[in-house]
Amino acid sequence: MSKMEQSSEEESIVIETRWNIPFAHHAGRTASRFFRAMRDEQKIYGVRCGQCQRVLVPARSFCEQCFVPVQDWVEVGPQGSIESFAINCMQYEGLPTPPYVIALVKLDGADTSLLHWIGDLDLSNVEMAASRIPIGTRVEAVWKAKRDGAMTDIAYFRLL
Ligand SMILES: [Zn+2]
Repeated sequence: MSKMEQSSEEESIVIETRWNIPFAHHAGRTASRFFRAMRDEQKIYGVRCGQCQRVLVPARSFCEQCFVPVQDWVEVGPQGSIESFAINCMQYEGLPTPPYVIALVKLDGADTSLLHWIGDLDLSNVEMAASRIPIGTRVEAVWKAKRDGAMTDIAYFRLL
């Protein structure tokens, strides 16, 4: 074997790097309508599947269970119930300074949950905070004054 031939037992070199690429893409017709309603009307919409009758939130163009297009728009929320939550105490890039509460909120009239923040909660004692938000806790969307057409137009959900 010559010097330049590779044997299968040669060590592979792994180069670790990090890419930070600014990226913009069209949200699509359905998501654009969903976000415009949040920005311009301060309203949250889902779409009802004509086959399984579930109201899907955020609005999407097809039902992932029935594989059929959906376009029957239904207003949901702005109140709902906590389905699940986590109190995060670690710092992650691009996420808030911990601790913070991230939750699945099932909005009134919806059959699926929305992932969002729970705010206005004293997190100085994490165990005590967790005991204040059992599954089923009622919450309400708190809107940003200046909205951009993004999920973050809802600043967070507050306890009712
Ligand atoms: Zn369906």
